[in-house]
Amino acid sequence: MKVLKFGGTSVGTAQRIQSLVKLVQGDDKKIVVLSAMSGTTNALLELCNLLYNKEHDAAHTAIEVLSNKYTQVVNELISTKEFKTRGAELLKNHFDYLRSFTLDMFTSNEEKAILAQGELLSTALFYLHLQELSIKAVLLPALNFMRLDENDEPQLPYITKHLHNELAKYPTTNLYITQGFICRNAFGEIDNLKRGGSDYSASIIGAAIDATEVQIWTDIDGMHNNDPRVVNKTHAIHALSFDEAAELAYFGAKILHPTCILPAQKKNIPVLLKNTMQPTALGTVISNINATEGIKAVAAKDDICAINIKSDRMLLAHGFLRAVFEIFERFKTSIDMITTSEIAVSLTIDNVKNLNEIINELQEFATVEIEHKQTIICIVGSLPKHTAGYAYKVLASLKDIPLRMVSYGGSSNNISVLINSAHKKDALVALNKGIFGYN
Ligand code: ADP
Ligand code: ASP
Ligand code: MG
Repeated sequence: MKVLKFGGTSVGTAQRIQSLVKLVQGDDKKIVVLSAMSGTTNALLELCNLLYNKEHDAAHTAIEVLSNKYTQVVNELISTKEFKTRGAELLKNHFDYLRSFTLDMFTSNEEKAILAQGELLSTALFYLHLQELSIKAVLLPALNFMRLDENDEPQLPYITKHLHNELAKYPTTNLYITQGFICRNAFGEIDNLKRGGSDYSASIIGAAIDATEVQIWTDIDGMHNNDPRVVNKTHAIHALSFDEAAELAYFGAKILHPTCILPAQKKNIPVLLKNTMQPTALGTVISNINATEGIKAVAAKDDICAINIKSDRMLLAHGFLRAVFEIFERFKTSIDMITTSEIAVSLTIDNVKNLNEIINELQEFATVEIEHKQTIICIVGSLPKHTAGYAYKVLASLKDIPLRMVSYGGSSNNISVLINSAHKKDALVALNKGIFGYN
């Protein structure tokens, strides 16, 4: 069985939804995972902010704007009177649910349930379209099988068991449709896999059913060597190893959710990145290959906080790092980059939820300086440690950019530098020239 995930732009209009039909048909069994239509999750987030601030009139207007958009989608997507009526009923159910929150009942607990409406709507509409075309399919509710544990990590054994139970109910079906992004947490409440999480859903589902392949369909022909939103010239990379792709995703290549490679990698399931608008383009195959040596791509991760921790020498040198790391561990805050000297350590985090508590504890034995608005630039490839020149090439390309931190040697897949975000564009352009020869 294969898993095919279609992102927001791939389901972004009625025409796009219609054009998916030919990509999902065929005799082989597949699970199709859909994101919300592009713009919907942002609109729902904005709605939650209005509800949170008790701006009920503005919330009402926001719901009607979104509802009108979906009414138009149904009109364009559906042809027959019978199915138009069913489409209108479907929208009424979802939007009446949203409207109920304008009656002063909103608490932040309901935010996740509101955000879930995007994927619930896109899958319901696609399923309705397939039914109108008399294409046999089954709509599987992701909330019946996608589950997080108490650390907010996917509970793979639970997901595997419950997804198999769902599939077993429809043994003769070839086409299953389900929602990306949404799940339940360890308490059974509606939750999600964070922004861009539908990629993660697809990979988790792939691992749960031992899929032969996970396909991520998006609006570009695969992973490119640099961020096409920032630099002018880029090219698609046709083959990446799991490790290379995981580094690129984690360090900011927006085409993939940061942790979505891992479930597929653990089960050795190839991940294909494909372009819905250009289905015949090669795209990128991410698999268990012996990667060819060299730098493949660069990516940038914004909103990084750098923390410089200088020991007051109350601790012995060998106890200092342990004391530092224990604090981050206790506050469940992962560290991305780290550099050390004899009496100080600089590290970066992207989750600043517990920053104040962390600083307070660090200050018991160290002087702490914080810098926000930092960006990690990650240079990824297969960079064997015995080969000279990679670090030189990177640093020479970045000769005009002030570097706050440099990390090399943690793995043979990446060289990372930390810079002030104000220099991000210049750094990506400089690397595009220095490494890939693009002017
Ligand atoms: P989807 O809605 O299908 O999940 P996303 O917007 O999340 O799509 O990801 C696709 C976008 O990622 C592309 O349109 C592109 O602008 C952006 N992107 C950023 N970095 C890269 C990269 N290195 N390679 C390809 N796309 C990238
Ligand atoms: N709809 C969610 C988002 O916009 C999940 C996804 O698109 O992958 O973040
Ligand atoms: Mg995405």
